[in-house]
Amino acid sequence: MSLTKEHILTLLEEVKDPEIPVLSLVDLGVITGVVISEEEHVTVNMTPTFAGCPAMDYMKKDVERTLEQHGISKYTVIMSFDKPWDSNKISDKGRQHLKEFGLAPPPKYNMVLDLDILEYASCPYCNSDNTTMRTPFGPTLCRSMHYCNDCRQMFEQFKPL
Ligand SMILES: [Zn+2]
Repeated sequence: MSLTKEHILTLLEEVKDPEIPVLSLVDLGVITGVVISEEEHVTVNMTPTFAGCPAMDYMKKDVERTLEQHGISKYTVIMSFDKPWDSNKISDKGRQHLKEFGLAPPPKYNMVLDLDILEYASCPYCNSDNTTMRTPFGPTLCRSMHYCNDCRQMFEQFKPL
């Protein structure tokens, strides 16, 4: 059986964000490329997310471990800073998973990220946009805290970047 890119991506779906166990690195948009050579050497490219988010090393090791667990012994995992990650790269499936997890997905934006969008959040519980940002600093650097004026619950949002 020869390896395919799709096969590798399916395996990598098993690797989750250490802070958000429902979100795979593939859906997070961190896995930016998979190349398989004629000799079946697998090269995986990763782009780090937030500079302040820990665990990129951990994620890289997790990718390597997952490949090995599936019998792939020839691989290279490259952390590339060429194309910066942004939160628009989170897949629609990933956004859905975030919401089910009770974490508001980052709003998609065009071109420039301004302050308004940082304050904008739609409630993951009732979908209301009538929300107020309490603090841009949530329990981790990647999250902000919001309050829903409709269902009166606090919730966290994965910050747009
Ligand atoms: Zn609500």
